[in-house]
Amino acid sequence: MSDHDDLLGDVFAERLAARAAALLPLGTLNADAAPEDPAAAEALGDLAARLRDTYPYNDAHYAGQMLKPPVPVAWAAYATAMLLNPNNHALDGGPATAAMEKEVVEQLADMLHVPSPRLGHLTSSGTIANLEALFVARELNPDGIVVSSAQAHYTHSRMCGVLGVEHESIPQDARGAMDLDALRARLERGGVATVVATLGTTALGALDPLPKIADLCEQHGARLHVDTAYGGFFALLADGGEPGVDADAYAALARADSVVIDPHKHGLQPYGCGCVLFADPAVGRFYAHESPYTYFTSSELHLGEISLECSRAGASAAALWTTLRALPLTRDGLGQHLSAARRAGLRLAERIAADDRAALLVDPSLDIVCALATTADDPGAAAERAFDTLAADGWHVATLRVDRAWATSIHPWLADRGGDVDHVTAIRCCLLKREHEAIAEELGDAIVAALG
Ligand SMILES: *Cc1c(COP(=O)(O)O)cnc(C)c1O
Repeated sequence: MSDHDDLLGDVFAERLAARAAALLPLGTLNADAAPEDPAAAEALGDLAARLRDTYPYNDAHYAGQMLKPPVPVAWAAYATAMLLNPNNHALDGGPATAAMEKEVVEQLADMLHVPSPRLGHLTSSGTIANLEALFVARELNPDGIVVSSAQAHYTHSRMCGVLGVEHESIPQDARGAMDLDALRARLERGGVATVVATLGTTALGALDPLPKIADLCEQHGARLHVDTAYGGFFALLADGGEPGVDADAYAALARADSVVIDPHKHGLQPYGCGCVLFADPAVGRFYAHESPYTYFTSSELHLGEISLECSRAGASAAALWTTLRALPLTRDGLGQHLSAARRAGLRLAERIAADDRAALLVDPSLDIVCALATTADDPGAAAERAFDTLAADGWHVATLRVDRAWATSIHPWLADRGGDVDHVTAIRCCLLKREHEAIAEELGDAIVAALG
């Protein structure tokens, strides 16, 4: 085992071992309980022990990356469906879960204002969902360039490489969103077929100015793909008039050609559950294939005929479907989780902004908050030290390294500070759990003390 094999802590480790033991007899549908299996029980004990070397993603003190366990209803639904292990590639593989997938995809499309009729399916991740959107864009215009902002997810340029498509990056503005003037200038030069906009960037949670980007795409005949892998579910707040959540940006999703959302982030689902949506159902033709050994059951469209992946867990669709029955896509349903996360983000941001020892890198648009050290001669080194101090005190945060020139354009005082000339490091927190609301101020206190 590694030298940090008790990250999880005793309390959670004990619970985990107890849950693992309780689950084993439930793991088959062929009897009321599985027959005793000492080797399996011992192996599960070993698993629980190995999992001690895992951060407590379930705990409010974990506020580092976009990680949290699924809600219990999603977990239980996933496990229930797993007793049959349906495969949502084809209707033969899981008629019930394929039907559930179609229903939840419609619900997600409604939430994201994708006009009807539309086409979409779940995927194993946001990366694969974005790959599918870029694949369709390439089929429509094989020689066209794809652009995304400097803060777009790194996989866009990677997947353009996989697809053999040219990719260019558009600079960011002072909020970490796509710079509109730079986009306009690039579109005027010609050759751009697809613009990838992001609502909820991974690093900062920034929202690209979607209404104006949609205008520019329209003027220049470019396709618009919107990556809302992280931020998509905040549509529930935007539509509910949540102060500070940019409702116009979410409304403009209606003008996108394709949209991606990750239910395994703010949709409270286990990995892997992503989703891609297309405004024009006719793009389904690009997926056409002639498989001699699937699709026996009906003339109805099989999910495998409109997705790049073959086998996919029907349990993912079952988990999302069941979750959305218990927590519908409304402000009072799943929206409650989002508003708690947003309040947590605002509280933490307020606490940081109110203290001389720290500054907000940018004002948070969602629930991701980044703080710079203001008093240290080397703010980057101070953030690295703060990360260690916080970890020693049981607070799990993340660091974020950003372009120094960009950060200095927002925070001119950085020009007088030392350290790495190209980059500066900030403390980054993702407050995506409901439980974060209760600890946001305490976390803020800990961060400013550690940075100062
Ligand atoms: C997380 C994320 C992705 C990648 O999604 P995975 O599900 O991790 O593959 C893409 N874009 C954005 C904006 C994200 O936040």
